[in-house]
Amino acid sequence: MHTHILPEKLPDFAEKFGYGDFIHLVHEREGFANMMKGGVFFREIAKNCWDPEVRIREYELYRTSVQVVCTIPVMFSYWAKSEDCLDLSMFLNDHLAGIADDYPERYIPLGTVPMQDTDLAIRELQRLKELDFPGVQIGSNINGLNLSEVRFFPFFEACQELDMAVFIHPWEMMGEADMKKYWLPWLVGMPAETARAACSLVFGGVLERLPHLRVCLAHAGGSFVPTIGRIEHGFNCRPDLVAVDNPVTPRHYLNKIWYDSATHDPQLLRYILEVVGDDRVCLGTDYPFPLGDLEIGAFIEQMGLPSETVERIFYKNTIAWLYGH
Ligand SMILES: [Zn+2]
Repeated sequence: MHTHILPEKLPDFAEKFGYGDFIHLVHEREGFANMMKGGVFFREIAKNCWDPEVRIREYELYRTSVQVVCTIPVMFSYWAKSEDCLDLSMFLNDHLAGIADDYPERYIPLGTVPMQDTDLAIRELQRLKELDFPGVQIGSNINGLNLSEVRFFPFFEACQELDMAVFIHPWEMMGEADMKKYWLPWLVGMPAETARAACSLVFGGVLERLPHLRVCLAHAGGSFVPTIGRIEHGFNCRPDLVAVDNPVTPRHYLNKIWYDSATHDPQLLRYILEVVGDDRVCLGTDYPFPLGDLEIGAFIEQMGLPSETVERIFYKNTIAWLYGH
């Protein structure tokens, strides 16, 4: 689980909608494309970002047979007018549905929804359910708002009701403007964003009120699990600040959430397995991006874990997260 895919060609959404720095692709040399955010270069992507056959050949090298695919967070476009974001989301979701239809044994899709408008997000969620998607991917914040905001609760409620899994991916990282150098938004901002999302769902009582909601956090939960001691201590020493919406200790939720395995660090993965349980960690890679675990699962195989634990990480936990069994 946790891989990203895009259509090879994107419509010119900025021209279609008449505003905004929507992502478009410029194909200048064979096998590569530049992702442009308005006029600004965002990232170069290669054929393995859009060609399902190339991907299959690449991930088979690591004896992986199925990928859970979702869009690249920069495509969320929550900043756009909600109707336009719905339009864009439907385009991406129809592409994902096509890949899953063409390669039903190879790809499992997670959709994207216009989170800036809860009603439209639920409407698209319902359509995704009809298209047989097992879940959706959403951002760690919605235009700067935390996931604990009351306005998002009906969306999470609908996810629980429709039995749709939720993957939370960091994006629009806090502090980005102040730390452009050294790739800090990716190295420091992303783990913090993920902890922000997790703490919001925990302290906001979302997970407490929706005990059957199945949430998975990208990048092994970012800094959430490594700093749970501090988070719990804060909850205990300043309940007046922290325990205002939910009286249950945050540690209680560690085993209610799923996490991908993208730690790049066997020691950290061992710690996470110990504190969240080996039924909660899913093989996640962030493929095909360079910051991902591109030697899919190799470090996990070298950790000397019991074979039942490896099996759980490699597929059983992902199935449990996606389908609830
Ligand atoms: Zn990712």
